[in-house]
Amino acid sequence: MKNTPVIDAHVHIFPPEMIAQREELLRADSWFGEAFGHPKARMRTAEELIASMDKAGVDMSVVVGWPWQSNTDCAVHNTYLADVAARYPERIAWLGIINPVADGAISEIDRCIALGASGLGEINADGQGFLWSEPTKWIGALRHIAACQLPIMIHTSEPLGHLYPGKGTATPAEVLTAIAAVPEIHWVLAHWGGGLPFYELMPEVRQACEHVAYDSAATSYLYDPEVFRRVIDLVGLEKVLFGSDWPVLGQGKLLERVRSLELTEAEMAAVLGGNAARVYGIGST
Ligand SMILES: [Zn+2]
Repeated sequence: MKNTPVIDAHVHIFPPEMIAQREELLRADSWFGEAFGHPKARMRTAEELIASMDKAGVDMSVVVGWPWQSNTDCAVHNTYLADVAARYPERIAWLGIINPVADGAISEIDRCIALGASGLGEINADGQGFLWSEPTKWIGALRHIAACQLPIMIHTSEPLGHLYPGKGTATPAEVLTAIAAVPEIHWVLAHWGGGLPFYELMPEVRQACEHVAYDSAATSYLYDPEVFRRVIDLVGLEKVLFGSDWPVLGQGKLLERVRSLELTEAEMAAVLGGNAARVYGIGST
């Protein structure tokens, strides 16, 4: 199993200058304020991530920015992610963050491509001020992403269950509207798609989700560990990506949990790295 690299497909890091500006950002960006208002919420740099990966046995991480409202803030974040990916090419791949409904989205998408992004993400409807059920607002940016053949990773939430900071409106019904509007995009739905895998048992939903994959970000806050086995059985092995949401969850702990599940060697290799390598076009696969 060690021949397939372990890829954590969902990790958040911040540029040191944004960590230094935490107080200003809390006031300026309401979604950031909601998530990072608690002093214990951690903002980590690439160096801290590499230390975590070394300790946990993660070969590569796909890092994403914060879903800033302004594309100017997104650009600052993207520049940092491109820089650290260039510094650690074997360890870090990155997704560019853009706000699809704010000024400058298209040019920032183009800049991310030029800087070597493996896709876009983690786009967040609530944080960035739109609904996935209102395509007119974001369709221009999403069509551009489709034309550039980039995958997009988006935040999703469950329509029920316990409340937590970051739970939002991107529920399966909302997200399915967006997928149907731009079905050619390769979508990665974070946090298990808010439960959408179950609805893939409906033939029309399964068809609409042909290019959809799911990541396991924040899984131990949301689901029983059996979710890995169950979702593989619902949607197929090739659609499930291991992602921790570090530093929200420890990489090592989640990796250990997944390894203790009853998955075959081939399933383990696909979930822990093979699928992310294929979806994001990274690593040696
Ligand atoms: Zn995340």
